[in-house]
Amino acid sequence: MKTYQLFIGNEFVDAAEGGWFDTLDPFTGEAWARVPRATQTDVDRAVAAAKAALDGPWGQMSASDRGMLLHKVGELIEANADKLAEVECRDNGKLKSEVMGQVRYVAKYFYYYGGLADKIQGAVVPNDKPKVFNYVKYEPMGVVASITPWNSSLLLTAWKAGPALAAGNTMVCKPSEFTPASLLDLAALFVEAGVPAGVFNVLTGFGGDCGEPLVRHPDVARVAFTGGDEGGRKVYASAAAGLKPVSLELGGKSPNIVFDDADIDNAVNGVITGIFSAGGQTCMAGSRLLLQDSIHDEFIEKLVKITKAAKVGDPSDPSTEIGPVATLPQFEKVLSYIDIAKKEGARCVAGGNRLTGPAYGAGQFVEPTIFADVTNDMRIAQEEVFGPVLAVLRFKDEDDALRIGNDIRFGLAAGVWTSSLHRAMYMSERLKAGTVWVNNYRSTSYTTPFGGFKHSGIGREGGVEAVREYMEAKSVWIST
Ligand code: NAD
Repeated sequence: MKTYQLFIGNEFVDAAEGGWFDTLDPFTGEAWARVPRATQTDVDRAVAAAKAALDGPWGQMSASDRGMLLHKVGELIEANADKLAEVECRDNGKLKSEVMGQVRYVAKYFYYYGGLADKIQGAVVPNDKPKVFNYVKYEPMGVVASITPWNSSLLLTAWKAGPALAAGNTMVCKPSEFTPASLLDLAALFVEAGVPAGVFNVLTGFGGDCGEPLVRHPDVARVAFTGGDEGGRKVYASAAAGLKPVSLELGGKSPNIVFDDADIDNAVNGVITGIFSAGGQTCMAGSRLLLQDSIHDEFIEKLVKITKAAKVGDPSDPSTEIGPVATLPQFEKVLSYIDIAKKEGARCVAGGNRLTGPAYGAGQFVEPTIFADVTNDMRIAQEEVFGPVLAVLRFKDEDDALRIGNDIRFGLAAGVWTSSLHRAMYMSERLKAGTVWVNNYRSTSYTTPFGGFKHSGIGREGGVEAVREYMEAKSVWIST
């Protein structure tokens, strides 16, 4: 079994109190690595290292040199993509092919934000005062705490590390206790790239005894969180106690809306990708399918045919299309939602069961599942399952689809499938979601903001503006 250590001040160290915990392979159900259980003392050490780095070579470095270092980290990520993907697959059971694509994309975040490091400009501001010159500059905030969930540890950390480090901050990152390993492998690449000590630190531990003290630490200036809305609320409250700026990327229950004028086969494929990528364990999953009445039956028939043929099994097998559910609590949660949907009167048209047998390892597998005859008041229509479970609802026209689509507390994303430009515009203007995809689903990029309306979060990640999210504006007035 592999043993990892915490990463503090460019050194790999044990937890101060000497605790450990195991990380499990969701396919085999076995512990494959053990990691230190960081607590308050380790939080103090890591934050102190990150704070000291602000006054060290990193703090003195030109923005261009900082950018070059981030670029170097990106190159090393690409060179080590296979190894990083392997580790993340062991931890969360995602398909190797999916994670390989993701890790290569992580490198692009470092290239993009490395390139932006010396392009965040201030301004000379004309003003109403006689003989006073005013300029505005942007400065790093300080130590940034990054807290991430189990579904995409590397990618979701890159969303934060790219802009935060480009801005000149330092970081203490806490990955999920279910997927702690890959960030520690990433950390080694920061040393290899020549990033100064204390700039990037990683603590493995639990929400209560590591995440919370990190958010509350008085020397943490800014908190970047991705996770569920319950965790998000706690982090928001802890950060509020210290009056810290926070970004929260939370859950979703996104409507994927198909009109009768859509290219149906294209839409079927898009709906499948929208819900079953990563076994539905993505915040942006298109987990509420809204079908226009006239195509409802034909569409479901096509969808069910593909769903029933999907190959579920070993995530390391290249022919597998859907892997295991990443964690045991999540597995139980997905099964409980299938029960809830059945009791609520939804009609199960595909899947609906757990899968067991030799092909399914330790058995943390759920059949890709589709429920028809769902109404918007059902829990299966309103609550995030975070698994391979699709709820199908019907609608009459645009306004009916908007009423149903927007009648939910989440607002992360939405899909619209139509051949009418007017319809595409009408819908995208009115959907209450941070991202709207028309005739595609799941496109995201480092070049553009991502985040949610309503309970799906606060703030945006991605794009040029993300760097400013990690900077303070300073206005300087000089008498002339
Ligand atoms: P979670 O909220 O349970 O945990 C996320 C992280 O928060 C973990 O590292 C956990 O240890 C930590 N944490 C928990 N309590 C804490 C506390 N009191 N203080 C500080 N840290 C604490 O989420 P999860 O189950 O790991 O991930 C699934 C959720 O993440 C889903 O709801 C999903 O939609 C969401 N998600 C959102 C996005 C997005 O960009 N909007 C992306 C991926 C996942």
